Amino acid sequence: MKKILQDLSLGELENFILSLGEKKFRAKQLYEGLTQGKAVEDISSLPKSLKARLCEEYENMPVKIKAKFVSSDGTEKYLFEYADGNVVEGVLMKYKYGYTQCVSTQVGCRMGCKFCASTLNGLLRNLTAGEILSQILIVNALHKADAAGQGAEKRAVTNVVLMGSGEPLDNYDEVVKFLRLISAEDGIGMSPRNISLSTCGIVPKMYDLAKEGLPVNLTVSLHATDDVTRARVMPVAKAYTIDDILKACDYYFQKTGRRYYFEYTLIAGENCDNEHADALVKLLKGKPCHVNLIRLNEVKERDLKALDDKAAYRFLGRLEKGGLSATLRRQIGVDIGGACGQLRAQYLGE
Ligand code: SAH
Repeated sequence: MKKILQDLSLGELENFILSLGEKKFRAKQLYEGLTQGKAVEDISSLPKSLKARLCEEYENMPVKIKAKFVSSDGTEKYLFEYADGNVVEGVLMKYKYGYTQCVSTQVGCRMGCKFCASTLNGLLRNLTAGEILSQILIVNALHKADAAGQGAEKRAVTNVVLMGSGEPLDNYDEVVKFLRLISAEDGIGMSPRNISLSTCGIVPKMYDLAKEGLPVNLTVSLHATDDVTRARVMPVAKAYTIDDILKACDYYFQKTGRRYYFEYTLIAGENCDNEHADALVKLLKGKPCHVNLIRLNEVKERDLKALDDKAAYRFLGRLEKGGLSATLRRQIGVDIGGACGQLRAQYLGE
């Protein structure tokens, strides 16, 4: 596989361009073109000969849109294809304040969560920082017109969530590099505050992340209130206890001043009776956190069932009454295979 220019910061590109015997300003032109989501050969400010030289060693464009689906509610679902033929998926959610893109960090996943389609075939490989970034660059480019008037002509995508396929903290170095690239002032310049990183709770890496100086919104997939129940749906719970996770979250808050989030997917008969709501209140009350309740997107390969709406609101009400800050996620994009890994699983199946 060829190398990827989007993996490089402006400084790294400058060194690289100088090493080719080219003038330094070419790096800036190249970087600007890449930031606009262009393929190397479409960057008109660069001489043809340089572009040809670059494309000998580097991908002209690391990612292609293999398929795009638009939901009746406007949500867009993408299937991205990388140079080696691997595919990952992404979602674009359109809100009044801007667009939020959900990106994938790995091809597949090895965490084995019982409700999740991303993990069905295990982990194929990690994505590089530039491959993750390219998912956003290409969607931004597609929606260029929508960015007008938002005060940031470089981006239609204003928020990013690392909640697609893969476990971000299992691909730590590339994900942190991605966070630096996307927040670089001379590039997309997205504030870490507009980025949410969701993890199944790889505790040592949560401590590492707290020390990076990248105050992203940390979100932990909890899905249970005790370790035994949690281990039934999330094998990672055998390595790290809920108690370990809560300590790491508190450390994250101490270091970054950012409140943290929990995701709690409601699985009928498993984790959403009154006793679970009360246990969740007991666990989290008084902590600087917010709980996002998620409706289970039933995956056909797994026999876990979603909770009905009425019961979901009852669960939410009990958390709120207990003093927790919580919301029940509105379900969007259901008609286009909204849940993690569903689209890719469908594609691979075909
Ligand atoms: N690996 C990360 C990010 C991936 S998924 C993590 O575990 O947090 C983002 C969220 O979607 C996680 O909370 C995950 O548990 C949840 N999720 C995955 N599959 C789901 C499904 N079928 N229905 C509802 N939520 C799901």
